[in-house]
Amino acid sequence: MKVIIVGGVAGGASCAARLRRLDEQAEILMVERGPYVSYANCGLPYHVGGVIEHESSLLVANERVFREQFGVDCRTGCEVVAIAAADRTVDLRDVATGAVTTEAYERLVLSPGAASIRPPLPGIDLPGIFQVRTVPDAHEIREWIERGTSFLAGMERYSGFQTVRPTRRAVVVGGGFIGLEMAENLVHRGFEVTVVEMADQVLAPLDREYGRLVEDFLGLHGVRVVVGDGVAGFEQSDDDSLVVSTQSGSSYPADLVILALGVRPDTTLAKAAGVEIGELGGIRVDEHMRTSDPDIFAVGDAVEVRDFVTGEWSLMALAGPANRQGRIAADVIAGRDSRFRGTQGTAIVGLFGSAVAWTGVNEKTLGRLGDTDYEKVYLYPNSHAGYYPGAKPIAMKVLFRTSDGRLLGAQAAGEDGVDKRISHIALAIQLGATVYDLEEAELCYSPPFGSAKDPVNFAGMVGAGVLRGDMPVSHWGTDDGAFLLDVREKPELAVEQLPGAVNIPLGQLRSRLDELPRDREIHVVCRSGQRAYYATRILLQRGFDAKDRSGGMLSHAILAAT
Ligand code: FAD
Repeated sequence: MKVIIVGGVAGGASCAARLRRLDEQAEILMVERGPYVSYANCGLPYHVGGVIEHESSLLVANERVFREQFGVDCRTGCEVVAIAAADRTVDLRDVATGAVTTEAYERLVLSPGAASIRPPLPGIDLPGIFQVRTVPDAHEIREWIERGTSFLAGMERYSGFQTVRPTRRAVVVGGGFIGLEMAENLVHRGFEVTVVEMADQVLAPLDREYGRLVEDFLGLHGVRVVVGDGVAGFEQSDDDSLVVSTQSGSSYPADLVILALGVRPDTTLAKAAGVEIGELGGIRVDEHMRTSDPDIFAVGDAVEVRDFVTGEWSLMALAGPANRQGRIAADVIAGRDSRFRGTQGTAIVGLFGSAVAWTGVNEKTLGRLGDTDYEKVYLYPNSHAGYYPGAKPIAMKVLFRTSDGRLLGAQAAGEDGVDKRISHIALAIQLGATVYDLEEAELCYSPPFGSAKDPVNFAGMVGAGVLRGDMPVSHWGTDDGAFLLDVREKPELAVEQLPGAVNIPLGQLRSRLDELPRDREIHVVCRSGQRAYYATRILLQRGFDAKDRSGGMLSHAILAAT
């Protein structure tokens, strides 16, 4: 069987390698337009920042490895320019010479990725404005940083005080994960960085309060974040630096601009081949990664797949799904019945030693879908046992079905242990698990790594407590005439007051019950929700109508900023 694979990076390279492992006889041709195959585009921001110093570290495998180890006819600098689906042939163009040849296939796999969104804004092609998609892109940015504008050019030839460079300014357009990774790496490179994001928050997959948390955190690290303002255009100043102007009329000087406005599935070839394109603009595939043409498969950023939680079609430009889909396409071509389960959009961004991660659905999406069968809990457990040095709180939000406890999504931020908690919950979601399952999850523990009640168990216990009625919750912004009871200690109030609340420290609660109303809901507040839970249990058992204010004052702080 002859299989042609278009695109030699995440999806394409995974498909080629897997197919060879399953079928020694298949004739596999993998064509890649660019100079490299199987490179780590996820590492590009870190290469720009100098964390990954050598370009060669980004090259996971090369043409020779594919030829020699996998017996794959691997051609770089080679582009598929046309598909004749009826004849089952593709036209290949040699990028260097322009020569076009025709190759026949029995199965074709499209993994062309996505194109960076590049709106036709005035000045967008000016020197100093870059996108970050490929190794050559990163190379150009590094060269620009090292060469600088004409004002900076040649500075490295001087010594002593003359090497003190003026402040360099960068504007990152777009507050998605690539934009924010670039922002951090440019700070490491000594830039003053401004992120300009048109939406009203950075990192769209997060709920707004978590977006604000990230924006504040970036601010602490010197990154200026401007949200709710789109870029209107770019101009060049007399000294060759740039000025980025926005729709609100603001302008930001810059020596370097990074465009990180998101991506759009590359469907040029798929459209030419006549395969179905979905309503979101991606190639429509079934769970076997087969397009509407049974001989053509498609994987990766170019395809539209089902959201595992909502069942809606979605576009998900992430490396994990692309790799898995490449394997699945290879399995199916080799005769196996492999299926893609759908995507949950599980992702993580590292920022200045901390991380924010998410999986599954967020509250914004549930709102958009009009789905009200859910509850949420906020919690702030330690990353590992509090008595072992270095424990850091993790801010977690977990969403689950009110009707049956099924997990829907989670978001977390913190300095330590965020990745494994969201990864655990991601797998739980994929397996259809509930908050009751999280309660029972047996996870590895010793003091440096976790707690006997891991944050994941804790999330399950809190969620299950809510559903069992042991711990009814209320949320900020939904007071509705409730009596606010603050059970924190007096010194805590000196730090942060809660206007309108009556303070009875937890330790005094049992002896002061006569101060509480029996004809109103009592919403109990503490710092994180834990003491409020203890108080809620006391009150419920004494016949009061009490609810724990989820996440306490810690949630108040982040929600107040939204
Ligand atoms: P790609 O890996 O983009 O490969 C497509 C290839 O097809 C390209 O090399 C292109 O040149 C080639 N091609 C296109 N058309 C043709 C043609 N006609 N002929 C020949 N070749 C063609 N994901 C994560 O999960 N985590 C991360 O941390 C992360 N970080 C990222 C950082 C950056 C800077 C970028 C750009 C992406 C990042 N991603 C990350 C996303 C991830 O890299 C992509 O989701 C993944 O690479 C998609 O795989 P793909 O095979 O669909 O496309």
